This record gives sequence, structure tokens and C-alpha cells, in this order.
Amino acid sequence: MKIQVADLHFKLLIDSDKIAKRVKEIAEQISNDYCGRTPIVVGVLNGSFLFTADLLREIDIPVEVAFTKLASYFGGTSSTRKIRDDFDIAVDIKGRDIILIEDIVDTGNTLHYLVDKLSVREPASIVACSLLLKPKALERTVDELKYVGFEIRNEFVVGYGLDYKEQGRNLKGIYKKV
Ligand code: 5GP
Repeated sequence: MKIQVADLHFKLLIDSDKIAKRVKEIAEQISNDYCGRTPIVVGVLNGSFLFTADLLREIDIPVEVAFTKLASYFGGTSSTRKIRDDFDIAVDIKGRDIILIEDIVDTGNTLHYLVDKLSVREPASIVACSLLLKPKALERTVDELKYVGFEIRNEFVVGYGLDYKEQGRNLKGIYKKV
């Protein structure tokens, strides 16, 4: 089924059942890996708001939550490689275990920027979890990327938090541009 978001057409790539199943699996992995600890889960807005909310509800160990907001696409369908830092997390992360939650890792620049920025604040550990990864688009490897929902091809996607011109974030599935 084809859908339209703003002036572009998209077709279903990953349906909501598949997303929910994978979210549960990742949450179980995180719950096991952090058993006995209380990590701070940092959602990277805007794109990860649904993923962060759904993941948190499936994690069954104590966690704290914080948000930061970064942008790099600015309404287009490819990375500008410029990162706009809109707001920072409002918690002290020194000595804490940090799990960054991203919607998608494309070139890897945003995640690299964030890991660099937070690492100087001396957290005990820092890893990242991304719902999607475009392995062929990676310009720099980010060793901290430990949890990945789905690897996808180098194509533009919307839905489940991801936007095109700020629309499409409310779609239950993930759709690729046709
Ligand atoms: P990177 O810095 O890794 O190139 O890009 C990361 C950010 O670019 C993501 O958090 C997301 O906001 C945006 N992005 C990358 N690929 C896509 C895509 O296919 N669709 C949408 N909507 N945003 C993307």
C-alpha cells in the first residue's frame, strides 16, 4: 500500500507488529545487561520519542529517563552533516550508566557528536541503541552502538517517530520512499 507524506510517496517497509516484537527483544536484552544497575535512558528527540516510550515500557529494571534534542536533516531526505544542538539533558551523568536512544543511525555523525559531548562528563559507561541502522551510509563507525533494531538499505524512511517535513511521525509502521 502506497501512502503520501507531504509531497512524497512511501510504501510499507516494517509493520507495527514487527517493530513491537523487536522492541520487546531489545528491552529484554537491556534488562539482562543492566540487571542490578539503574541506567539513565537518554532519548534523542524528535525522532526517537515513540521508540523511547515503547522501549521503556518493556524494560523491567529500574531506569531513569532524560531527553536531548538534536537535528541534522532539516526537512530534506539526506543528511546535511550539520548538527543543530537544540537542548541538552538536564541531569548529572557523572558515574552513571548511559543508554542513548536514537531513531536511526545514518552517517553516524550525530551519534558520534553526542557520545563525544557526553563522554567528557565522565559517565561510568555509555552505549547507544538505535531502532534503525543504514550500514552502507555510515561514514564513521561508532563503537558505542550496541543495540540495533533493524538494518535497512540506504533509503529514506518515515514513520514511528521519523518525519518528512515534520509529517509522518505518527505512522505506526516504517515506510520507505518510492
Ligand atoms: P546521521 O548523523 O547518522 O547521519 O543522522 C542521524 C539523524 O538523521 C537521525 O537521528 C534522523 O533524525 C536523521 N535521519 C537519517 N536518516 C533518516 C531517514 O531515512 N529518515 C528520516 N526521517 N530521518 C533520517
